[in-house]
Amino acid sequence: MIHQNQMALKPAIALENVGGLAFNLIVSKLGPSEAAAVACVNKRFKDWASDESLWSIFSFQELRLSSPVDPLGNPCSSFKAAYGAWRQAYGMYPWPLVIRVKNVWDRIKSWLTDNFPEVLPTLCKGASEAELNELEKALKVRLPLPTRVLYRFCDGQQPCSGIRSGNLCGLIGGYSYYNFLVNVFLLPLNVIIKETRDITRSIKFNSPKYIVMAGSFTYTEKMFFLDCEAGQLYVGTKNLLFNQEMMPCVPNRLIRSVHDSRNGPQQDAMLLWLEEHVRRLENGIIKLREEGNYRSISLFPEEAPMCSLATTCGVQVRASAVFAPEFSDFMEATEKYMFAYSIRMSLKPEGCFVHGMNFDSCQLYWRHWIIKSNDNVVDDINGEAVIGLHPLLLPGKKEFVYESCTTSVSSPGSIEGSFTFVPGRLIDPKGTPFEVEVARFPLGEKVKGISRVKLYLSRFGYLNHQTYPNVKNFEEDYFDEELEVAIKSYQVYYHLNATGTLDAPTVLMMVKPRCGYPDKETYQHRDFSLDIGSHYRLFPNRPKWPNRKRHLTYGFGSRFPISFMPSITRAFNRWASATQYFTFSIAKTSRSADLKISFARRAHGDGALFDGRGGVMAHAFTPMDGRLHFDVDDQWAVGSVQTAYDIETVALHEIGHLLGLGHSQYKNAIMWATISKGETKGLTLDEIRGLRALYGT
Ligand SMILES: [Zn+2]
Ligand SMILES: [Zn+2]
Repeated sequence: MIHQNQMALKPAIALENVGGLAFNLIVSKLGPSEAAAVACVNKRFKDWASDESLWSIFSFQELRLSSPVDPLGNPCSSFKAAYGAWRQAYGMYPWPLVIRVKNVWDRIKSWLTDNFPEVLPTLCKGASEAELNELEKALKVRLPLPTRVLYRFCDGQQPCSGIRSGNLCGLIGGYSYYNFLVNVFLLPLNVIIKETRDITRSIKFNSPKYIVMAGSFTYTEKMFFLDCEAGQLYVGTKNLLFNQEMMPCVPNRLIRSVHDSRNGPQQDAMLLWLEEHVRRLENGIIKLREEGNYRSISLFPEEAPMCSLATTCGVQVRASAVFAPEFSDFMEATEKYMFAYSIRMSLKPEGCFVHGMNFDSCQLYWRHWIIKSNDNVVDDINGEAVIGLHPLLLPGKKEFVYESCTTSVSSPGSIEGSFTFVPGRLIDPKGTPFEVEVARFPLGEKVKGISRVKLYLSRFGYLNHQTYPNVKNFEEDYFDEELEVAIKSYQVYYHLNATGTLDAPTVLMMVKPRCGYPDKETYQHRDFSLDIGSHYRLFPNRPKWPNRKRHLTYGFGSRFPISFMPSITRAFNRWASATQYFTFSIAKTSRSADLKISFARRAHGDGALFDGRGGVMAHAFTPMDGRLHFDVDDQWAVGSVQTAYDIETVALHEIGHLLGLGHSQYKNAIMWATISKGETKGLTLDEIRGLRALYGT
């Protein structure tokens, strides 16, 4: 015990002797409240704890203050005074929430400064506690804590010219097509009171807890309502005025502690929505659109997988769609989802190449659209021109952009098609017309895009994700932080740039055919000093065949093609001769076999579905289960055939699972999770080391 006491005293003594600067570094790791406690210890500590450099560190770490200013932007005499002013101004709120809200506003303002500075003057200064209380009293609501703090930092937008003037400075942005223009502003408190009173005269909500938070008041009324009690944000559909039809903007499961200041983290839909919005802006998923004198934030996605890209004969076409809830209708028996879409076409600087000839211009003549819903063709449209125009493309010139809209009766939907161009000009054609591909783009990210990525990542062990069968899929399009982390970990696993976004290399990796076994349920050995450069993984709890079981028998399912059997036998022999731990032979009856090998389709009774052609092509279970299944819907061959998987290579991989190996991060290893058609592989040292770790003495 004495020994322990001495140990406990030691750091305090050491602290007394360190210099001011080193002490600052130590205390700055503690945080301000601990620093205040240290200041109480004795006079000398007090001097250090009030040291200006220490307070400048706190001010920067928590509030990103690079100079001592109070919340109103007034300079203070010291960082200590500035930090104190911030703590006092927001003392009624949980401090981590204040830091988080300040962070989201800082990011928004920083993006605006770099990209869209005209919006900055429209942002109002923060509202006071009295003003927030006044709104609560006037509308008889209790605002969620995160929304209160958001408005303490910035009281919405007050464009000088008035919000009904057609100004496109909406912070939330929008889209336009035909005669419709949507541009959403975040409203200031006084407008929230007025608009909420106006709208509740025509809409009879069941409860008075809904208030208008944001809206587009251009030619189209699009309105966002905050449910002050639950903290969810809703957007009105086409039927808003008739039956209060609305859709949630943020997954319910992310909303928590909206009125509870003690149990954090507090997050309501307003905070989550703005965080997601600025994340999309920062990552270039949505961008500024410039057209004539107008600039606005455009909600049409600009990045894969929501935006498609194809280049044919030098003509590049980018296409994406955005869901327009305010034109959608869910009252009818057949729900109508309305989508606005944006087509952006340009000619490469080299000009266009058709049949080996080069032209310095081309002009659009014809369009062909195929609209699909649940992979069925619902519409096939042919017509001259786009929105009445025949765009002329010149090399390296700015994209020609046009918008249109379509409805989809059920999701998931998509559009693909082609444009027919004439080399030269329509009035003076220089060659034969040619077709330009418009690559398939999804209608609504909710189903085909993000939710499929979520499903993929959860299936292979990167994300804990549940699907809620009774909740509208709308929620599933939400790209939350959880998903970003999961994508990063997937990217690290496959040696891609860990961007956290669905960039092209990541999407390409995800669509590669692969083994059905998850990557991340496996235990990664970290014994690098003993086994430098190996990447094999073992399963959690390291399941293995017992010592008495070193001879394993295998049998085939009743419909297993005889022509593939020798390949399977060769795969077993390769494992036997390379590792020496096991011998294998064909079982007398397939029922008595240790390892049962068969072809299967879709759901086949083991809880691990196959997915038809493409995607997962095989899977196997850990010791001592012994089942190995090939997906019968994929194409199989003996040896390297360009259109099929080599059955022996895939068998080598799956036998690795049967023996207790997980996936390897070494690309050449047989235990790497993906494989291409026509690819053949043998065993490498990596899996031999893995097996040695499991069965060696
Ligand atoms: Zn595998
Ligand atoms: Zn199976």
